[in-house]
Amino acid sequence: MLNIKDIRNDFPILSLSVYGKPLVYLDNGATTQKPRAVVDAITNEYYNVNANVHRGVHFLSQKATELHEQARETIHTFIHAKSTSEIVFTRGTTESVNLVATCFSEACMNEGDEVIVSAMEHHSNIVPWQMAAQRRGIRLKVIPINDKGELLLDEYRKLFTERTRIVSVTHVSNVLGTVNPVKEMVSIAHEHGVPVLIDGAQSAPHIPIDVQDLDCDFFAFSGHKIYGPTGIGVLYGKEEWLDRLPPYQGGGEMIQHVSFEKTTFNELPYKFEAGTPDYVGSHALAVAIDYVSALGMDNIHQYERQLTDYAMSKLQQIEGMRIYGTADDKDAVISFLVGNIHHLDMGTLLDRLGIAVRTGHHCAEPLMHRLGIEGTVRASLAFYNTREEIDILADGIQRLKQMF
Ligand code: PMP
Repeated sequence: MLNIKDIRNDFPILSLSVYGKPLVYLDNGATTQKPRAVVDAITNEYYNVNANVHRGVHFLSQKATELHEQARETIHTFIHAKSTSEIVFTRGTTESVNLVATCFSEACMNEGDEVIVSAMEHHSNIVPWQMAAQRRGIRLKVIPINDKGELLLDEYRKLFTERTRIVSVTHVSNVLGTVNPVKEMVSIAHEHGVPVLIDGAQSAPHIPIDVQDLDCDFFAFSGHKIYGPTGIGVLYGKEEWLDRLPPYQGGGEMIQHVSFEKTTFNELPYKFEAGTPDYVGSHALAVAIDYVSALGMDNIHQYERQLTDYAMSKLQQIEGMRIYGTADDKDAVISFLVGNIHHLDMGTLLDRLGIAVRTGHHCAEPLMHRLGIEGTVRASLAFYNTREEIDILADGIQRLKQMF
């Protein structure tokens, strides 16, 4: 069981007032707030450790390297990867997907080859593939959804051809909250000998992740959405795949030897980590992961599920409420519109009540087209949110409805 009152004390920003109202922060899908331990870790590293990592013989460099590599260990354990060589530090999910789209399409795809994505992808799992498509002459195929916002698995099965080279799908939709059956999807893809990249931006913060159990070939997530700092994220890749891919960017760290005639590349995972890494960020991310691990990902998942169910039933009672995303398996994200109130008006007015929600297309324009709307209001939950906050949201919506 989580003690939410104690947990909230770990997040100083949650006691802020906005326009004289207590902050109700329901924009966790965009980014999460940071516990004191994470902020302290950043300050402490800059005050007491800071030095560039790897190859430094001096005390501070060795200390910083230790923290950076320990962070890789922490992440490897957290997602249950086989080895730390499979953990590549990136700037976040977006960079992780770009890395795979660029390197995989270069090494493993030719003109006419196909990548399968879904109708509910974030732009960051569409555009990198489109860019690869332009460079390599490959095609995108799209798994459709039903009106509840669930992927149609029969249609997914039909999309495979002898030209399918990779599947790239989101684990949890940042708009609908749908939890996709990725384990089953991986197994279907593997029957066709096709690897799978999972966009875990919205799942890693909420659901226990075991990449070996999922058997996915790549898994991407962002530090800032899992209570860590901005600018750091992770790409997990099975060693056999990472070995097959060419480097992403060139520079320091990713090489073994350089001459003007020939350069040899570093071993995994450094082959994919050109330049000075965000070693303060990696350590702070590990502190965030230690924080959620101490709470227990199962406890977090269970609590957030109950809170999502509560929010769904509370919001559904509001007359004129239309909720987008009513999948049987749904997690922590609720998108909605009320009557004919524009999403932007709703978001702006809720803000005046101290309630932070997101409005717009949520970087998923193709999904908006599928739903036949321009945007939604989105409340996205974290374990520090409470039923009282959901009540404040519901009361706020009622008040605004009366104004219109
Ligand atoms: N995928 C999904 C499903 C997301 O929700 C997001 C962030 N909104 C991203 C990818 C991109 O993450 P980032 O901006 O941290 O790279």
